Amino acid sequence: MSADSNLSKATANPAVDGSELIRFDRVTKRFGTNTVLDSLDFTVSSGKHVTLIGPSGSGKTTILRLLMTLLKPDEGTIKVGGEYLTHEKKGEKLVPAGEKHTREVRKNIGMVFQQFNLFPNMKVLRNVTEAPVHVLGMSKEAAEERAHELLDLVGLTEHVDKYPTQLSGGQQQRVAIARALAMRPQVLLLDEVTSALDPELVAGVLDVLRDIAHTTDITMLCVTHEMNFARDISDDVLMFDAGRVIESGPPEKIFTEPEHERTREFLSAVL
Ligand code: ADP
Repeated sequence: MSADSNLSKATANPAVDGSELIRFDRVTKRFGTNTVLDSLDFTVSSGKHVTLIGPSGSGKTTILRLLMTLLKPDEGTIKVGGEYLTHEKKGEKLVPAGEKHTREVRKNIGMVFQQFNLFPNMKVLRNVTEAPVHVLGMSKEAAEERAHELLDLVGLTEHVDKYPTQLSGGQQQRVAIARALAMRPQVLLLDEVTSALDPELVAGVLDVLRDIAHTTDITMLCVTHEMNFARDISDDVLMFDAGRVIESGPPEKIFTEPEHERTREFLSAVL
């Protein structure tokens, strides 16, 4: 079996059918008097790769943190896979979600952070098996088999018995990608995953993500400053400014014929 079909098998998720996977409905998020997201609406269909671009401070990371339930919206609702993330239905009423409900919905979401966030006291293999065993209740054997597959696919077979500090930043980030995929999420959130890396390590991580984007059905929502990567993998690019989507469309349109002056300014500063 080729590496590509292995990758596809290792990440396959039966819930990919082009239906709506993420929905933000009039989501507002404030920090004190700073309105970071302003009645934001957007949707992501299952299987699509969507990239969020825009100036620093425009609210992109806040969106990913809301999806991970690291933050709560002040107003509006978020749905993942048709289920409310932030709320649950009690009879006919919509009430703030309890911990158990949120945990269930969040199982569909995997995230890779800027700063890897690996467990420093665990070897690479255990970093990848820990959540499938303890959160999904997989057997240790099944979790290890899958971890080996995923670590092979991100090019780390030789490093399974090392601790994170024995790896380069790029290798650590590839462990973090394998760890996120091990939970078979429906959607993978990528938050500027190469911005903490030395420049020579960026390409290896982006290549792994390109492979995942091109050979699997996983839905991706990325915040990135790597515009070539965004152009390569995105079905849709959303341009943010001051907590709103000011322009969206396929990469060939956003990167070559942007309509909005702010988009043109932003792209000429970063390209
Ligand atoms: P981006 O990812 O587009 O750079 P962020 O979503 O990180 O933007 O931040 C948007 C705004 O929210 C910024 O002004 C930032 O300072 C502010 N912000 C983000 N997190 C917090 C927080 N925990 N407390 C206060 N302000 C925050």
